[in-house]
Amino acid sequence: MSAPGEGATAALETAGLKAAILAEAMPYIREFSGQTVVIKYGGNAMDDPELADSFAQDVVLMRLVGIHPLVVHGGGPQISDLMRRLGKEPEFVDGQRVTDAETVDIVRMALVGGVNREVVAAINRHGSFAVGLSGEDAGLIRAKPRDEHLGFVGDVDRIEPEILRSLFRDDLIPVVATIGVGAGGQHFNINADAVASAVAEALQAEKLVYLTNVHGLYRDASDESTLVSTVDAAGLDALVATGTLREGMIPKVESCLSAVRNGVARAHILDGRIPHALLLEFFTREGIGTMVTL
Ligand code: ADP
Ligand code: MG
Repeated sequence: MSAPGEGATAALETAGLKAAILAEAMPYIREFSGQTVVIKYGGNAMDDPELADSFAQDVVLMRLVGIHPLVVHGGGPQISDLMRRLGKEPEFVDGQRVTDAETVDIVRMALVGGVNREVVAAINRHGSFAVGLSGEDAGLIRAKPRDEHLGFVGDVDRIEPEILRSLFRDDLIPVVATIGVGAGGQHFNINADAVASAVAEALQAEKLVYLTNVHGLYRDASDESTLVSTVDAAGLDALVATGTLREGMIPKVESCLSAVRNGVARAHILDGRIPHALLLEFFTREGIGTMVTL
């Protein structure tokens, strides 16, 4: 038998906890309000509808408390899916997609016409702030070829951030697909991790955040208990030299290093599988994942 009023007491306690969490967020809201944050969104968080929705909520909440979030998205699996549907088998050399003229067209369809629209729609279900862009728009991403054997795989040559600034002036949330344009008007597919850091540098963002499918950077790639919570650029150089980084973590770590060395205060690698990973990192005392500083 429960004592009279016990349920009400429990409800009050829960409410008190919620209020405490909101109050705890205040200094962080004060700190981040008015600042620019670049978020690379990819991997698992994108495929799971519930996680996609919690990501969208977080981005909208950030915007509502005065932060300027910008989303850069990947879409490797979606590109491979569309290729197969069109009867083309994806091919990789050293983890990089071989991209002939036909493939780069498919990449544009999958990223700009597909993934970009999905991310914009997910955000705009919570508040009509998101505007989708490709690197082609207003000359946002200038690309140069990486390696002739890979075809139209590009590196960032230059970012023209004016279009992003004007969207921020209107309190909108840019969502960027990572197609770049080369000197002759040719399109290139560019790694989204590299685009995120280039954009963060061009905007001199306060933070660059990678949402991925691991807790963060592991000292030993096969052992989750070796999560690196904080590391500076020199420490990260030393870790790279040990050869522990493989596959998808390589462009992320290189991008984090470039960002903090070129004016971005902090870069984070966070677990996008955790619901509301962005809120946890931004508005609570419990920082999660890996934080990289200069
Ligand atoms: P995303 O879609 O987020 O870019 P990637 O697959 O490209 O995901 O990169 C993340 C992957 O990098 C992880 O799933 C993991 O398998 C791999 N990885 C390689 N080395 C490490 C490391 N040292 N610490 C953590 N993850 C690592
Ligand atoms: Mg990747």
